[in-house]
Amino acid sequence: MSGRRILVIEDNPKNLKLVRDVLTHFGFEVVEATSGEDGVRLAGQVGPDLVLMDLQLPGIDGAEALRRLRAAEGTRSVPVVAVTAFAMDDDRERALAHGFDGYVEKPISVRALPQQVEDFLKLGRVR
Ligand SMILES: [Mg+2]
Repeated sequence: MSGRRILVIEDNPKNLKLVRDVLTHFGFEVVEATSGEDGVRLAGQVGPDLVLMDLQLPGIDGAEALRRLRAAEGTRSVPVVAVTAFAMDDDRERALAHGFDGYVEKPISVRALPQQVEDFLKLGRVR
C-alpha cells in the first residue's frame, strides 16, 4: 500500500508492539527500529511516508536522529513526529523547537493513534 509506510523508532518493546499492532490493524505498513542510528539508516533504505520517533533512545537521541534525517537528501522531506511523555509544556515546545512536525503523547492512545497518523500523513512536512 503506497503512502502508508510508517517507520517507528522506539526502544521500549511494549510501546513498539502497541504501535505496531494498532497501525498494522488499520492497514499501515510498519517498519521498526530500536535505536536512532538504525532508524536513520532504515529511513534511507525504505523511504517511509512518516516517522514516529521516540525522543529518549539508546545512543543518539530523537533530536539528533531528526537532525540526521533532515541533513540527508533522501530523508529530508519525510515528516517526523516526536513520541514522548511530556512532563511539562516546556518539553512539548522543545520538541517542536527541534523541528519535529508534531508530537504524540505517551501513554499512546490506541483509540486516537490511527487518526493521528492519518492527520500527520495528510499534513506532511510542516516545520
Ligand atoms: Mg525510549
